Amino acid sequence: MPMQIKLAKSAGFCFGVKRALEIALKTSLLGKKVYMLGDIVHNENVVKLIENAGIKKVKRLKKSKNAVLLIRAHGTSINIFNKAISLGYNIVDATCPMVKEIHRVAKEMEKKGYRIIVIGDKNHDEVRGIIGQLKKRALVIDKLGKTSLNKIKKTAKACIVVQSTQNLDKTLEIADTIKKYIPDLVFFNTICKPTRTKQAEIKTMPLENDLMIIIGSKNSANTKRLYEISHALNKKTRWVNSKKDIKISWLKDARRIGITAGASTPQETIAEITSYIRSIKA
Ligand code: SF4
Repeated sequence: MPMQIKLAKSAGFCFGVKRALEIALKTSLLGKKVYMLGDIVHNENVVKLIENAGIKKVKRLKKSKNAVLLIRAHGTSINIFNKAISLGYNIVDATCPMVKEIHRVAKEMEKKGYRIIVIGDKNHDEVRGIIGQLKKRALVIDKLGKTSLNKIKKTAKACIVVQSTQNLDKTLEIADTIKKYIPDLVFFNTICKPTRTKQAEIKTMPLENDLMIIIGSKNSANTKRLYEISHALNKKTRWVNSKKDIKISWLKDARRIGITAGASTPQETIAEITSYIRSIKA
């Protein structure tokens, strides 16, 4: 039987990251100093591309005349926005429109008197950006422990929004539990469409293929999540970052090979690895 390679539809950059990268490269051509608070994505090649374009990553903002602060796809808090303006920066906002929508919903519901609950990772920049839009302190829940349940029990009216990249099953489970305790609860499932597609594919592809290749940097959290889900379903799951990581012995006996990639993996890397596998198997 000839070998089949199936590349996930959702492999690689999501719409928001692609857009942010395009905005960043366009901004680098303005002839101004351009700064970013953190990496655009967790991928060495993309970080290098951004550096080569002259965009600098900084931890803190210093006073600056006529420089640009580029806001990444995750978005940021109102405080950072205002601080940058007061320090003299021009803002180029590459926040993903789907993250902007979470900001809008959270702000609107807070205005209507709802306490905002964010299902997400409190240390993630996107979540910091969401809670940083609000006047009152939001409750961030990653998993339901005793402390978070106690806080929930004291709340009469709340609105849930979700970090765009959260796990759908886990989120629905948490939201169902919260519903039992809060009489007036509104739930906005703000997991974005690209994330949903990625999660649906990684639940089926490992069962349909003999070998799964997951492409992405070792420091990419979302690639790690893809690897873990795939590995739990199919032990023949391999995590690679370049064609050099591929061992020919893995491909022996593999008739159907599934390939996917984390949201920070560039298209060129995916194409290079896919054609390398094809060339070995040919
Ligand atoms: S993961 Fe979703 S919300 Fe986040 S940048 Fe990508 S498309 Fe936008």
